[in-house]
Amino acid sequence: MILCGSLCKKKYTFAAFLGEVPERSNGAVSKTVVRVSVPRVRIPPSPLSINKLSKHLKKNMSRVLIIGAGGVGAVVAHKCAAVPEVFTNILLASRTKSKCDKIAAEIGGNRVETAQIDADNVPELIALIESFKPDLVINVALPYQDLHIMDACLATKTHYMDTANYEPVDEAKFEYKWQWAYHDRFKEAGIMALLGCGFDPGVTSIFTAYAAKHHFDEIHYLDIVDCNAGDHGKAFATNFNPEINIREITQPGKYWENGAWHEIPAMSIHKPIHYPNIGEKESYLLYHEELESLSKNFPTLKRARFWMTFGQKYINVLNVLQEVGMTSIKPVMYEGREIVPLQFLKAVLPEPASLAEGYKGETSIGCQIRGIKDGKERTYYIWNNCDHAEAYKETGAQAISYTTGVPAMLGAKMMLTGKWNGKGVFNVEEFDPDPFMAEIGKYGLPWHEEIDMPLPVEKSKINTM
Ligand code: NDP
Repeated sequence: MILCGSLCKKKYTFAAFLGEVPERSNGAVSKTVVRVSVPRVRIPPSPLSINKLSKHLKKNMSRVLIIGAGGVGAVVAHKCAAVPEVFTNILLASRTKSKCDKIAAEIGGNRVETAQIDADNVPELIALIESFKPDLVINVALPYQDLHIMDACLATKTHYMDTANYEPVDEAKFEYKWQWAYHDRFKEAGIMALLGCGFDPGVTSIFTAYAAKHHFDEIHYLDIVDCNAGDHGKAFATNFNPEINIREITQPGKYWENGAWHEIPAMSIHKPIHYPNIGEKESYLLYHEELESLSKNFPTLKRARFWMTFGQKYINVLNVLQEVGMTSIKPVMYEGREIVPLQFLKAVLPEPASLAEGYKGETSIGCQIRGIKDGKERTYYIWNNCDHAEAYKETGAQAISYTTGVPAMLGAKMMLTGKWNGKGVFNVEEFDPDPFMAEIGKYGLPWHEEIDMPLPVEKSKINTM
């Protein structure tokens, strides 16, 4: 059977499928009969009573500082501005203030203030936070800035959230350990950090929590499948920050199986996977950061993998760039000064935000899960498809920025309205998925689900290099 969230373009008549009346909450759909098995470990404490957040909620207003004015930052600003009942005051700050000003002008209505900030400079960040006094800082700059911004949030006792985990500039290695190490300090300060609230990580982690809560007693096999079937018409471009994107896909692949990580050469395992409304696309097994937190937070998982589609032309160009050393992060001397080849490459590639106009086609990202329900094997597939042109029409952004920025806004709303609340550092799957799932369709990312149908990821054989 197929169900979907509130804003499905194709409306399915769920009651007819189910032979029962679905409950509706804020426009989303859930099955009426579910056995709730609460997923995993740390349950966030009950709502705080004396923190800054609650004080502001009593006054029914929230101030938010968005850092980063790239593709994702623009969508977060647009979406926050459209929800004035929660985000009363918005400050968009980034390295290049003119980009903030451009976004603020597009949004109009004096909804967004702007500022220049070097988010690697903690004293500067503290000064900005102290002058604007946000309830929450949304970090959509680059992963390199995560710890600096968390330090500034700690110093000012301000809540924090981001969409990508920290990685050091000089090492292409992204892990949660650096940010999880802030847990006790955030807890002592009485503030909350929400990590990875984009689409993947973000919605994929919430989809997994939702599946575990409503459809399984135990989840055993998780395959996150990420397809971009769009065409931006450029010879070569990345859909989010080129430096971060290329670092991610050129490092060895990794997946979780039987309690251990298994490493493979980059892009060496691939297979065709069928995506709804798109068809079959060659999909490559990559390491992706939500695998780390999901394998920890859902200990019943026997295997967790992440697949992403790439076109053959993209792979050919990337191979050439790698072979000539242009993707290296080791500095080289050029005309008497050190340059990092990948940073130079980023400077000549199109900015993610610039791809939006004329981008055609859809993304399809979801989770395919096998596990046990009432003693029987169960399969479950939950996904969202997002149309590049529709995203552009609404926010001037392409679908990758859109699918990241919308959950970031909604995660911020969950925090500011107290639906997700805790002291310390949390990944999104540690909170109740229901209020998020009830609203994400309304904000532009409707979801669909299939229960007890063959999983597309299991239909084809793996190809190796
Ligand atoms: P962009 O490169 O388009 O934007 C990054 C922005 O951060 C730019 O405006 C840049 O400024 C700004 N910035 C960089 N360094 C600093 C600094 N030191 N101080 C202040 N501002 C700075 O990237 P995207 O918008 O595509 O991606 C933003 C984030 O979202 C990334 O961390 C990315 O990994 C994450 N992401 C997460 C996804 C998810 O699903 N979870 C998916 C896609 C992206 P300037 O304009 O001057 O360069």
